[in-house]
Amino acid sequence: MDLRFSEADHAFRAEVRRFIETELDPRVRRKLAEHRALTKAEIVDWQRRLNTRGWATPSWPVEHGGPGWSAVQRYIFLDELHQAPAPEPLSFNVNMIGPVLIRFGTPEQQQRFLPRIANLDDWWAQGFSEPGAGSDLAALKTRAVLSDDGQHYVVSGQKIWQGMAQHADWMFTLVRTDPASKPQAGITMLLIPMRSPGVTVRPIVTLDGRHEVNEVFLDEVRVPVDLRVGDENRGWDITKYLLGHERTGIARIGMTKRLIARAKALAASVPAEHGTLADQARFREQAAAIEIELKALEITQLRLLDAMRENGQGPDVRASIVKVKGTELRQAASELLLQAAGPRAWRCADEFDDAADADTTIAATYFTLRAASIYGGSNEVQKNILAKHLLQG
Ligand SMILES: Cc1cc2nc3c(=O)[nH]c(=O)nc-3n(C[C@H](O)[C@H](O)[C@H](O)COP(=O)(O)OP(=O)(O)OC[C@H]3O[C@@H](n4cnc5c(N)ncnc54)[C@H](O)[C@@H]3O)c2cc1C
Repeated sequence: MDLRFSEADHAFRAEVRRFIETELDPRVRRKLAEHRALTKAEIVDWQRRLNTRGWATPSWPVEHGGPGWSAVQRYIFLDELHQAPAPEPLSFNVNMIGPVLIRFGTPEQQQRFLPRIANLDDWWAQGFSEPGAGSDLAALKTRAVLSDDGQHYVVSGQKIWQGMAQHADWMFTLVRTDPASKPQAGITMLLIPMRSPGVTVRPIVTLDGRHEVNEVFLDEVRVPVDLRVGDENRGWDITKYLLGHERTGIARIGMTKRLIARAKALAASVPAEHGTLADQARFREQAAAIEIELKALEITQLRLLDAMRENGQGPDVRASIVKVKGTELRQAASELLLQAAGPRAWRCADEFDDAADADTTIAATYFTLRAASIYGGSNEVQKNILAKHLLQG
């Protein structure tokens, strides 16, 4: 493939940039630039603006409302969102359950859910992990038993780490329907309305002082059988497909570029022996090392997107490379920023509301990003996947 951007690509980039400038509330932009949490209303408002423009579901096929962009256009779109910064369309909706329903859902499920997923009329959460089933997801124990009349599944168990489930209307959930078979063979995907009797969401406050993740308890929750995705006990194939999509979305290269730019700008304001911190060889070397690797990752990501377009398939095992490298570089960039900020970096994200204090979100950002190498499948596990598929031939 030709990795240079064409004239049309540059024009597209300018169009996206213009849209963000005219449509995005500047207060939302500032909050994101300072790595502060957005409200549900702010996220929903932005996604609806994107959806009105036909841009909320970049990777969906045109017949389901996707914009028909090339891989390069999708990349440029995300890059512009990250660098602006502007919110991404909600990943749980657009990159996870949307593609799953397009591939595995019934026509009725597609008709019922896809438009609402795109417009964020329904907010979705991901109910996969459990206290004893994270990396080893197939060990999950949440049970679903078919009712005597065959109309409902009755679901009981506990999920953990559900991102933004406090806002969710629905949760796509993995449950065990056949305890007797091999772990991967007895799993089914159900769509559970969060307002069903028996669903309890409990917050987990993380090291950065934020409430983003939750525990979800399911106590004899009755789920109609038409909310099953795919066949009973065939949820594992769907899960692998979904996780591939989740992983390609985690690289967030534009966000890393922004972290580096902010670190450089901050370093230029820190006096050092000869000039500023930004002039110091050690600092420049660290920034350059991240930038060089980031460029290589950018090319890898473009190649992956191009291959997906050509073979019409979802992401393959190379999504794991992008996940590992993307999160490592974002963490390295946040560390550089932390060093540049020095003592100014320390305070929790939501303690202040003043632009003058913007630097103080830096420590929180650093802590938030520690989790990036864990969610979407930990980096160690991604390396196992790569070793199995690429090195063993
Ligand atoms: C911020 C955040 C958001 C999340 N959001 C969601 C969500 O929305 N929905 C959801 O379902 N889940 C979510 N998760 C859960 C996430 O997917 C799991 O935390 C992750 O898969 C790791 O599982 P675990 O926490 O059980 O750790 P474990 O699996 O217990 O792993 C502990 C450590 O051992 C290592 N390890 C485990 N197995 C191996 C192995 N075979 N080889 C080498 N090393 C290994 C891991 O890399 C890790 O370092 C989220 C997690 C975080 C931190």
